[in-house]
Amino acid sequence: MIHDNAWNTYGSEDLDALERFSADYIDFISEGKTERECAELLVEMAKKNGYKDLADVIEKGEKLSKGDKVYAVNMGKAVVMFNIGEDIVNRGMNIIGSHIDSPRLDIKQKPLYESDEYAYLDTHYYGGIKKYLYVVTPLALHGVVVRPDGKKITINIGEKDGDPVFFISDLLIHLSNDLMEKPAAKVVEGEKLDIMIGSKPLKGEEKDAVKAAVLKLLKDQYGIEEDDFLSAEIEAVPAGRAREAGIDRSMILGYGHDDRCCAYPSFMAMMDVKDAKTTTCGIFVDKEEIGSLGATGMRSYFFENMVREVLDRMGISKETELKRCLRNSRMLSADVNSAYDPLYADKFEKKNASVFGHGLTFCKFTGARGKSGSNDANAEFMASLRYMMDKHGVTYQTAELGKVDAGGGGTIAYILALYGMEVIDCGIPVLSMHAPWEAISKADLYESYKGYKAFLTEG
Ligand code: MN
Ligand code: MN
Repeated sequence: MIHDNAWNTYGSEDLDALERFSADYIDFISEGKTERECAELLVEMAKKNGYKDLADVIEKGEKLSKGDKVYAVNMGKAVVMFNIGEDIVNRGMNIIGSHIDSPRLDIKQKPLYESDEYAYLDTHYYGGIKKYLYVVTPLALHGVVVRPDGKKITINIGEKDGDPVFFISDLLIHLSNDLMEKPAAKVVEGEKLDIMIGSKPLKGEEKDAVKAAVLKLLKDQYGIEEDDFLSAEIEAVPAGRAREAGIDRSMILGYGHDDRCCAYPSFMAMMDVKDAKTTTCGIFVDKEEIGSLGATGMRSYFFENMVREVLDRMGISKETELKRCLRNSRMLSADVNSAYDPLYADKFEKKNASVFGHGLTFCKFTGARGKSGSNDANAEFMASLRYMMDKHGVTYQTAELGKVDAGGGGTIAYILALYGMEVIDCGIPVLSMHAPWEAISKADLYESYKGYKAFLTEG
């Protein structure tokens, strides 16, 4: 069903299901704000749905066959899951891949300093952000500190009621005459994104007494020394829960919809597949926002290696069979799309833009300028998806990422396309993408869940 507004298609049963799904999603993105937290939540839910750790299967020398469900975790930051169906080599797999990292501020290795009786944490931003949007918004700290003795300390400050939050100060408007003349990219520069962490001196301390007080507190409450920041990954993210938005509660405002609003429905769709005819595979990767590099990004061999391990456990060991399995697969690169914004209408070409309420968005190509850097999906594949969506009553739309020559972007699609499988980008329209608080439509979230389920079972 293309071009319909999904809200017009719903009966009371759909609306109930949509609200329940949205409420669970709000919990998920409010609790999982980093790749590590999301990976942990996904694994926890997968286990409840009968998924076993592939590492255990390998260690115990167990065999895998149709009906078996396994997951593999990559360094606590990425997850891949399989629900094994029939004839995996020749049928291939129905794969949905998304990413669970989001733009944010990373705390530097040597972050802590005092300046004029304020203590700061120095940051290095991660992913594409408009830096000026990160000042004055309440921030929470999430992450891990790993001590040389191997002890891992989990940090989560700024989310619970009664927790303190953190912030980056902004120059008051009264003194901003010069600043207001600067281009947006320069108004707040990267090295100015330093987080205020304290202002109370340690009594009796003469030099850097505020920093000393912060260090004492970190030691007393968390067992962390200053040098422990060297082996830490702490992310500053917007503090607080995602919330319903609009007087009609039709939308959700939250941090990091990109790309957890695709990860979550694809995961839930995968959990719903009870008796997989074709093997289903869910990929949830890290590092997409900085180019998919690194051991936990899509460009690492982790996914391929895990497919190899699964085949090995099934008694399939030839290299040609692995390659055939991958080549015969189909993939949805589940990532967000730029929703048409009437306030910035000149950046979109309206008839080829995604809009709120019009459902799961297929994006045949991304890229910039002359489709540079894009995976351009095949017409044949798009046709099969149209058939599936119609058959399952899924509201969907097609879109480009903004107007030609306005800019551009990409996803993990091109990486899976290297195997010669069919791949298309598809996801949910987002307003204010990469801002601290992004917005989506509940209807699009729900239609994506329906669409992903249709793909996993029909593809
Ligand atoms: Mn994304
Ligand atoms: Mn992004």
